[in-house]
Amino acid sequence: MKVLVAAPLHERAISVLREAGFDVVYEEYPDEKKLVELVKDVDAIIVRSKPKVTKRVIESAPKLKVIARAGVGLDNIDLDAAKERGIKVVNSPAASSRSVAELAIALIFNVARKIAFADRKMREGVWAKKQCMGTELEGKTLGIVGFGRIGYQIAKIAKALGMNVLLYDPYPNEERAKEVGGKFVDLETLLRESDVVTLHVPLVEATYHMINEERLKLMKKTAILINAARGAVVDTKALVKALAEGWIAGAGLDVYEEEPLPKDHPLTKFDNVVLTPHIGASTVEAQMRAGVQVAEQIVEILKG
Ligand code: NAD
Repeated sequence: MKVLVAAPLHERAISVLREAGFDVVYEEYPDEKKLVELVKDVDAIIVRSKPKVTKRVIESAPKLKVIARAGVGLDNIDLDAAKERGIKVVNSPAASSRSVAELAIALIFNVARKIAFADRKMREGVWAKKQCMGTELEGKTLGIVGFGRIGYQIAKIAKALGMNVLLYDPYPNEERAKEVGGKFVDLETLLRESDVVTLHVPLVEATYHMINEERLKLMKKTAILINAARGAVVDTKALVKALAEGWIAGAGLDVYEEEPLPKDHPLTKFDNVVLTPHIGASTVEAQMRAGVQVAEQIVEILKG
């Protein structure tokens, strides 16, 4: 059997496929024309957010049984066309949970201790000790909006840091909450009572601009907002206003309504905002796990 790897994949994932006795063909991000040629005799294909697996590609692959997306999100795969042919589509949504959680915690520390600001000043030759008064996290309240895979990982770290944990999720998992010492409350209570609010919801209709002017106004003036979910969960204009008028103390952002974030965007003007370029899942471990998990699923399916 033959597997087409159409995007960069960790070598350990390739080994899983080879050890199962599959032929592995590698072509990085082929265009549709090339992909149509390559899929003619393959049993499985592995992609990341690219390339697109279109209806035409699927129709050109008579032996195809599995389409695997190493990572989260299936927007580049024509799911209807796959379903029509009975082709299984698999992914690895849990592979990056710990990495995203650790980035969110890093952003919290960074904003709370003004690390990025201090570093910028050091490079300018300014010893900005007086401007770098920070706050501790121990004993503070962390509000986690969306208590799923990532939210749970954050809660575990928060517990170890001695933080109080408030949770908001329309589908509360009480058992996991108990494990991390978290308490479910409604969103308004969470926003009012938290010293740090961190967002880990999917972007759906109900979460689009979930954090708007009205809700930012509920937050403490000393609070920090973290968004490593999706940019549009926060109304960016409202956030810029909140920062400019001091409704909150700072923000740490990994995701934006427009990506890449345009140069000179208003968010880049605040000293109390830390920005990263959507790197939540960008760790060696997350990439390795994403590859190995889809490779193992392919082996399981193709070997029956
Ligand atoms: P998940 O599905 O495990 O958890 C999401 C949680 O949000 C679920 O418990 C769900 O019940 C809850 N939820 C749904 N609607 C809600 C609402 N209206 N209000 C509050 N909670 C709601 O997902 P996850 O793996 O924890 O990932 C969360 C999000 O993180 C993803 O959807 C993705 O957008 C984002 N993400 C970002 C990066 C990054 O690089 N920054 C990487 C991976 C995932």
